[in-house]
Amino acid sequence: MSKLYNIKNWTRQNLWAWMVENAETQSKMQAFRADQIFYWLYQQKVESFAEMLNISQEIRKMLEEHFWISSMKIAESQKSQDGSIKYRLLLEDGYSIECVFMPHTNHNTVCVSSQVGCGMGCDFCMTGTMGLVRNLKTAEIIDQILTVWGDLPDEQNLRNIVFMGMGEPFHNYKNLLQALEILTDKHGFNFSQRRITVSTSGLLPKIRRFGKERIKTNLAISLNGVTDDVRSKLMPINKAYNLEELIKVCREFPLESRRRITFEYILIRNLTDSIEDAKGLIRLLHGLKFKINLIPFNSTPISKYQVPSPEQARKFQKYLLDHGVVAPIRISKGQDIQGACGQLVVGAKT
Ligand code: SF4
Repeated sequence: MSKLYNIKNWTRQNLWAWMVENAETQSKMQAFRADQIFYWLYQQKVESFAEMLNISQEIRKMLEEHFWISSMKIAESQKSQDGSIKYRLLLEDGYSIECVFMPHTNHNTVCVSSQVGCGMGCDFCMTGTMGLVRNLKTAEIIDQILTVWGDLPDEQNLRNIVFMGMGEPFHNYKNLLQALEILTDKHGFNFSQRRITVSTSGLLPKIRRFGKERIKTNLAISLNGVTDDVRSKLMPINKAYNLEELIKVCREFPLESRRRITFEYILIRNLTDSIEDAKGLIRLLHGLKFKINLIPFNSTPISKYQVPSPEQARKFQKYLLDHGVVAPIRISKGQDIQGACGQLVVGAKT
C-alpha cells in the first residue's frame, strides 16, 4: 500500500482515532502509542519511524505502510548584524516561504508564515504585493519550526512563536488550529499557549471564532490607522470590517486573566505618526486591556511610504507612555536582510 498521509498534518487526537480504527484493540494502548509517536516526532525530532525505538516493530511497520514524515529544505539563509536569521524554505511543490529567527537574551523567537503570499493586499507590505498563492498545510507550518530549530546551535532553544510571517493566519484557519494543537500538546512541542501569538489583519468572524477555541494563544491585531480613511488606505480589509466593528469585537473578545490584546501600529512619516494620531489611538482603545507595539515603517524597494524620524517616533511613544499606555517601540530585527515586518516576499516556484 502506498503511504497516504503525512503524519505531521495530524493532531494526536486524529492519530489516536485512526489507530483505534486501524491498529490495535485496546484503546489505552492506542493512546499510549500516539503519545509515543508524538514524543519521537516533536520532542526527539526524529525523521524516520525506524528511530522510534520504544515502539514495536509491528507498529513501526504499520506506520511505514500508511504514513510518511515530511521535512523541509533550507534554500538559503541570511544572517543579520543583529543576529536574526532569515530562512527561505522550500516546499514540496517548488514554492518557497520565509521564516525568521530572532534571538533575544531569554526568549528566542521564530516568526512563521501561514500562507504562500497573502491575499490581504496591505499597502505597506511586500508580501501583500504577491497576492495569495496558497495556504500552507499543517505540516508545512510545523516543519518551519522544526527546520529553524534544527539549524540552531544545540544550546539555542526556541521560546516564542509568532504567526507574523507571510500570510493572514486566519485565512488558513483549520490548518492553523491543527498546528496550534500540535505546538501546545504536552506530548508534542509542549509550547505554552502564552508563548504563541497569532497576528491578524482583522478578519472579524475569525477573531470571534478564535475567542471560543480551547487553545488560548495571544492575539495581535494590525491596527495601523486610527481613522477609517487612513486604515482603509493602508489595509483594504478595513473596507469590509471598519474600525468601529473591529473595536467592538475586541471588546467582546474573551481574555484570560493578565492577558491583553496587542495592537501593532506602524509609524509612517506624515501619515500615522502625529500626536493627533497618538491621541486618536488612546480614544479608540479606551477601556480595552491592551498594549501597542509601535513599529517604525521599514522601507522596501517599492515602498511609497516613508520611514518616520526617530525623534517623532520617540515623541509619539512618549505621549502614549505619559497617558499610561504600554507602548514599546519595536525596532524590527533583520532590517539589513529584508527580514523585518512587512518585508517578506518570496514564493515563486524555483
Ligand atoms: S501585512 Fe500581513 S495581512 Fe497584510 S498583506 Fe502583509 S502579510 Fe498579508
